[in-house]
Amino acid sequence: MAYDTDNIFAKILRGEIPSEKLYEDEDTYVFMDIMPRADGHCLIIPKTQCRNMLDATPEQLTACLKTVQKMGHAVMQAFGADGVTVQQFNEAAGGQEVFHLHYHVLPRHDGVKLRP
Ligand code: ADP
Repeated sequence: MAYDTDNIFAKILRGEIPSEKLYEDEDTYVFMDIMPRADGHCLIIPKTQCRNMLDATPEQLTACLKTVQKMGHAVMQAFGADGVTVQQFNEAAGGQEVFHLHYHVLPRHDGVKLRP
């Protein structure tokens, strides 16, 4: 499927709409989810165009997952979490709403459910 350069995360990367940045490196950008399902819920995206995991290059996948792991450690420490859930959706039928590859990182505490 084609990449739509008008998607919200492309606009965030271009600085056209604001985001609460947590981290960035040469290949990835991390910001807070606007509707967090847990305290510290953040999103990891590649800086280059990619619709979802199904059309990602090995380099995009590697860069994203390195940053996912880094953010997993960071939110465990910052939020005193007991664990971390990583979620990633592909195409509308797979639950994807924003069509730029992203990974959700959700700090988890024992016995606490995610908000809807
Ligand atoms: P789902 O909405 O089912 O989780 P996605 O995996 O496509 O599907 O997630 C899109 C995520 O992007 C949602 O968690 C939503 O809250 C978040 N989001 C949408 N717009 C913004 C924005 N401007 N800034 C930060 N997060 C956003």
